[in-house]
Amino acid sequence: LIVLGIETSCDETAAAVVRLGRDGRSEVLSSVVHSQTEDHAPFGGVVPEIAARSHVETIAPTVERALADAGVGWDGITGVAATAGPGLVGGVMVGLSFGKAAALARGLPLIAVNHLEGHAVSARLGAEAPYPFLLLLVSGGHCQLLEVRGVGEVTRLGATIDDAAGEAFDKIAKALGLGYPGGPALERLAEGGDPARFELPRALLGRKDMDFSFSGLKTAAFRLVETCETDQDRADLAAAVQAAIARQLTERTERAMADYAQRHDHRLLVVAGGVAANRTIRARLEAAAGRHGFRFTAPPLAFCTDNAAMIAQAGAERLARGERSDIDAVARPRWPLDEAAALAAPSHA
Ligand code: ATP
Ligand code: MG
Ligand code: FE
Repeated sequence: LIVLGIETSCDETAAAVVRLGRDGRSEVLSSVVHSQTEDHAPFGGVVPEIAARSHVETIAPTVERALADAGVGWDGITGVAATAGPGLVGGVMVGLSFGKAAALARGLPLIAVNHLEGHAVSARLGAEAPYPFLLLLVSGGHCQLLEVRGVGEVTRLGATIDDAAGEAFDKIAKALGLGYPGGPALERLAEGGDPARFELPRALLGRKDMDFSFSGLKTAAFRLVETCETDQDRADLAAAVQAAIARQLTERTERAMADYAQRHDHRLLVVAGGVAANRTIRARLEAAAGRHGFRFTAPPLAFCTDNAAMIAQAGAERLARGERSDIDAVARPRWPLDEAAALAAPSHA
């Protein structure tokens, strides 16, 4: 199976070609990501209208380049996978429509992929991440602990009750004057900082569940930003924020590991999503996994933030099971990964 993946749910226009072998191993033949960061930087965040227009302009050349880089023509492609949500619906429609047109024109099966499922399988690109595994999904819009038994077989163990971890990074980074996107910039600033200098609140203390909360931390950080005078002050605050986010992610994941270990003998912890690119967070989680007898895996850095290889991987896994989507599949601005979440509290998804 050689699948073309298309991703346009936020501010990256991406296309990739992934080959899924009979042995279940996949190989990324190409992965092209056109980031719109510069288009949105003056506004301090993603502007949906600008994003949609930019996707329209770049989708065709991005797909052509992915095919060229992979060294396969359209004749070598066996399926088209496109993100159908969740995300900014104007952008999702651009990639999904392009995928539908390509599938129709070439007589190929279409797979409409949940963007979060893409993140969920991203660690399977090249690395050893057999099902089932415990997943910490930490991205710009989501912060969840999930039990993943296969594509479409997901149970949610916990989720944020307010902001996502990436959102907290971005908003605090913005307050620190670091621009957008803030996560990578805050990580760089934190390198020269002392994480012990500022005290930040610990969220949901005493609660036994696996939920997250970052709004108290965010508010406290905003107040402390006002007291910062020197570059060293700001670096110390960045380090404290990063440590506090890492600590909360690690504490809740430790609870989830204890819970998960009661049901599964194969103990694997996977972290995925943009925030999984953070080295401090990866290291804390890896150490925690070791303490709980879990193996630890994270995608290569390039496949943590949005990309189309993960969409192609999810599509390929579904195609391999004989699935395909209707050609009139709709773009879904909201689309929880697990069915229970679709019925229960939508604001936590
Ligand atoms: P979602 O996947 O939930 O729809 P998204 O697609 O916008 O949201 P991703 O592309 O997965 O999110 O991740 C982007 C987020 O990851 C941003 O919030 C960004 O600040 C954060 N991020 C990226 N790199 C780092 C890093 N090194 N440290 C911390 N955060 C990071
Ligand atoms: Mg992005
Ligand atoms: Fe994402």
